[in-house]
Amino acid sequence: MSAHAVTASTARTSVRLADGREIIYFDDEPGQDRSTPDRRDLPPYAPAAELRYDVLHGEEVLVAAHRQNRTYQPAPGECPLCPSHGDHLSEIPAADYDVVSFENRFPSLGGSAGGRCEVLCFTSYHDGSFAALPPERLATVGRAWADRTAALAKRPDVEYVFLFENRGAAIGATLPHPHGQIYAFPYVPPTPRRMLAAAERFLEEHGRCLMCEVVAREAAGPRVVAETDGFLAYVPEAARWPYEVYVAPRVCVPDLPALDAARRDELMRLYADVLRRFDALYEHPTPYMAYWYQAPARTKRDAAHLCARVYTPQRTADKLKFLATSETGGGAYINDVLPEAAAARLREL
Ligand SMILES: [Zn+2]
Repeated sequence: MSAHAVTASTARTSVRLADGREIIYFDDEPGQDRSTPDRRDLPPYAPAAELRYDVLHGEEVLVAAHRQNRTYQPAPGECPLCPSHGDHLSEIPAADYDVVSFENRFPSLGGSAGGRCEVLCFTSYHDGSFAALPPERLATVGRAWADRTAALAKRPDVEYVFLFENRGAAIGATLPHPHGQIYAFPYVPPTPRRMLAAAERFLEEHGRCLMCEVVAREAAGPRVVAETDGFLAYVPEAARWPYEVYVAPRVCVPDLPALDAARRDELMRLYADVLRRFDALYEHPTPYMAYWYQAPARTKRDAAHLCARVYTPQRTADKLKFLATSETGGGAYINDVLPEAAAARLREL
């Protein structure tokens, strides 16, 4: 049996792009040939991110000046995330794919900063969306996310794997093709760090997981949006955004790799259900930000409880909430939408 057949049998194939970056194909079904070479002539890959420390705020800042030249809203037919065909040579050498994850050509990490940035495409269909993915594809995306979380967390220069999606030009997505990103940080970023500190304090005082407590309190309450046997989707009591939902397991699970495949599929279906509700809010697809809080690679794992957070700054069909000075300067959020009303609306959609 050839080496290629061995990797293909697991529906996961890792190959190299022309500049040496890794690309991993995750297929819905095993047995695909993913050996198509990258025919582009690319300059050598040289990530140049730099990690600096803001002493006044006590937080890290990444400086990645080379990213100014990255692809921005390409013309139709020039999409770097569509499969390659004819003269159009994209980031994905194959003529079609299911899910791929590859090293970002314009990374915010790597270089002297350490860590790694990946781009993860949910579908080869340019005009698709996460919310419209069929169940078998949701399962493949969940498998790819778990794979990347576990593999990147093993690197000595990675302390936190952050999976996210920015959808919509209105909130700064530079490519319309359905995709997410993975930032494998060389440190635990400030927001999860603060949340883990709160969870650790609660654990110390009460001997229980904070998120387990919150999920149990929200269950059957007025802010539930959708649920399954193992997971709850709810609007937080102190939501910061007009529409904001957490999706979390009812019991302690540190990260996606800790779920078995059946539970992971169940979670992915609920997560997609939440995104469909966001898309149904307005006449046009809702811009949203979605991301996963997972346990750090090797610290504070006993205080961590996996959850996804999805929100949109779209407060009416034609109005976006912009972060005001109280929010960016003071960290003090002001929400114009009653969380219980937002939950009722999302529940009905
Ligand atoms: Zn595309």
